[in-house]
Amino acid sequence: MPAMDQTLFDYTRQDAAGTCSTAHAWAKAPAPLTPPQRQALAERAAALLKAHNAVLVAHYYVDGALQDLALATGGCVADSLEMARFGRDHAAQTLVVAGVRFMGETAKILSPEKRVLMPDLDATCSLDLGCPADDFAAFCDAHPDRQVVVYANTSAAVKARADWMVTSSCALEIVADLHARGQKILWAPDRHLGRYIQEQTGADLAVWNGACIVHDEFKGLELQLLREQHPGALILVHPESPKSVVEQADVVGSTSALIKAVVEGKAQEYIVATDNGILHRMRQLAPHKTLIEAPTAGNSATCKSCAHCPWMAMNGLANLVDCLESGQPEIHVDEPIRVKAEGCITRMLDFVAARKTAATGMTPGIGAA
Ligand code: SF4
Repeated sequence: MPAMDQTLFDYTRQDAAGTCSTAHAWAKAPAPLTPPQRQALAERAAALLKAHNAVLVAHYYVDGALQDLALATGGCVADSLEMARFGRDHAAQTLVVAGVRFMGETAKILSPEKRVLMPDLDATCSLDLGCPADDFAAFCDAHPDRQVVVYANTSAAVKARADWMVTSSCALEIVADLHARGQKILWAPDRHLGRYIQEQTGADLAVWNGACIVHDEFKGLELQLLREQHPGALILVHPESPKSVVEQADVVGSTSALIKAVVEGKAQEYIVATDNGILHRMRQLAPHKTLIEAPTAGNSATCKSCAHCPWMAMNGLANLVDCLESGQPEIHVDEPIRVKAEGCITRMLDFVAARKTAATGMTPGIGAA
């Protein structure tokens, strides 16, 4: 039951409220560094992390130099579910989140006593931008009989209105469980992921009309042509992609699931339909496999279509060093919103932990000390 009356957000627009458009994001993305510059900045950042009792929590889509630094300094490189758990459970009093704004907000919601820094607070997400809290509240008011399930890629204010937060790692399981208990669901904001979950679970979903500008641009027809050139390749697809792309997948899953598929897969070649920032980690973990980017709109594409998120690209070593030196910018979440938003995130983490316990018969070890 898609909400077809909603129009997609115009991500190219820089509005009066200071929305960070794609063009603005690319303009702020750090310039490439020379190897000596990269080494000097990485060493400086490592020293500052240590001096400030800080830990770097990075997403798979950010620059490879940040991923390497996170791993080398005892932080983590992960999907948004693991980032949330890691930050919550780590002993460091300062979390530096290399990713986009909702990831920093999630860290602050779960760890209000910690300082949460980000290299650039303009780093946002088309799903977050496309789901304003007031409009979302009206959507919820129109469907009072539904459990409100929101994707992690939403603002704290939207999460404050939700019953459940989910990530792509656990969305299917949680919606299937709600469906089995006879619940109808309001889903926001990604329409492709909502459709995929509806098809997989048979649940009754009222779906918000949002999209990820990176995954929305993968092309089914071009993927089909690429597959014909690489008949032995496995197709790995993130479920934020359109139906015509997901239908061709050998594996549909979260970033962590797609990395696992490359590492454990028997094939030599893999066509990957998600942000190309993930290739850095895939190459490190499976250096002898051949990785091919899934096709987007090609040379005629706009900045929306290069298989890399402009907001993730805003994170770099130089602005990481700046934020560690200045203690700015810092994430703040209003306490009443934080308290409400915490409920839906904790519910998800508890659900995942309980499933893990049931599957292994062991108490889950979450995050790092
Ligand atoms: S890749 Fe897509 S979902 Fe991820 S932060 Fe960028 S716009 Fe949002």
